[in-house]
Amino acid sequence: MPKELILKDGRERSLLRHHPWIFDGAVAAVSGAPLPGDTVEVYSEEGQWLARASYSPVSKIRARVWTFDPNEPIDQAFFDKRIDAATTYRSQLALQEHTDTWRLVHGEADGLPGCVIDRYGDFVVCQFLCAGSEAAREMIVASLKRDASIRGIYERSDTDARKRDGLKSRCGLLWGEEPPELFTIHENGIQFLADLRNGHKTGFYLDQRENRAALPCCHGADVLNCFCYTGGFGLRAAKEGAKSVTQVDLSAPALELAKRNAELNGFDDALFTYTKADVFEQLRKFRDMGRQFDVVVLDPPKFAETPKQLEKAARGYKDINLLGVKLTRPGGFLLTFSCSGAMTPELFVKIVGDAARDAGRSARIVKVLGQAPDHPVTLDFPEGRYLTGLLLSLP
Ligand code: SAH
Repeated sequence: MPKELILKDGRERSLLRHHPWIFDGAVAAVSGAPLPGDTVEVYSEEGQWLARASYSPVSKIRARVWTFDPNEPIDQAFFDKRIDAATTYRSQLALQEHTDTWRLVHGEADGLPGCVIDRYGDFVVCQFLCAGSEAAREMIVASLKRDASIRGIYERSDTDARKRDGLKSRCGLLWGEEPPELFTIHENGIQFLADLRNGHKTGFYLDQRENRAALPCCHGADVLNCFCYTGGFGLRAAKEGAKSVTQVDLSAPALELAKRNAELNGFDDALFTYTKADVFEQLRKFRDMGRQFDVVVLDPPKFAETPKQLEKAARGYKDINLLGVKLTRPGGFLLTFSCSGAMTPELFVKIVGDAARDAGRSARIVKVLGQAPDHPVTLDFPEGRYLTGLLLSLP
């Protein structure tokens, strides 16, 4: 019996616009007893073929579309084609001119739902985040292996997202050589050590590459880098000639690596202060001490996982941005981010605008920022956009 999924009347509309997710509430019937990750044929209530998708019986996203082309089977050739297209797009971006590390596959935006693949030099780190990409794991690895320059493929399927698909976390070598304990990334003239096994995401925040490079007017500046992780924006500031760089993060291992990264780049240790603290508290301490900085960076973790959590998250963003504005000297810059997908750029502008107003300051948008182009957003799938940033000048 063929594995099929029939949608409720009217619920075919988003698929006809090539949105790749089918929610549980849109499904009228499932036939053929598909197992998690199995490929199913998707039909409208009237029997119109719509898509071929991977099935996930426990997730609210009941199926994720592999293809809208009835003539495209989901086989090895399919994954080869998708990986080739993803590779071609990255080579068009000429990333090699600036870095040796980039996102090769950004899930839905590369036609591979629930699949993230990052390239660290000759090593590749994969995350299989849903039942479909999990089931396709071996074919995806086989596709990657065709690139003779790849020495090792490592798996970091240890994100919470997998729980929603009923999957346990799993990490380890998938093929080839073990990556080094710490991989040295070369990004725009700066080296960063990345822990591919235990670091956040697959080891590094590749999505902030262009924004690190956009750090303004750091020459001779006092720079405060909040939520610094392994030093990213702070090292960039040092490279640009900052007078002092204050790196703040809750994580001791992240700060340790930030320190090693500064050494690796030969920066004067006296430039840096490392503060292991909660940013919410540390910003208040700086305010009470009357400390100010020429450039303040706020790059917090995701405050809202879902649109429902946005209201509470908005208070968190308002709070740190209010303090961030207060700590920015007149004539300075605030570089502020949200990586909550539910936060729209419009809402973020409003929240940060309210914060500036409450601080009694006017703020000018120098640039609206987003995720680096190796993390593309397709117009059919706006959910792929999650990172919003504002570079503000504070006269
Ligand atoms: N800007 C970094 C990425 C930041 S990721 C880069 O470019 O690489 C977010 C960081 O915030 C993580 O390192 C995490 O340890 C830290 N963090 C989360 N909550 C925090 C808090 N309340 N106070 C301080 N740091 C926090």
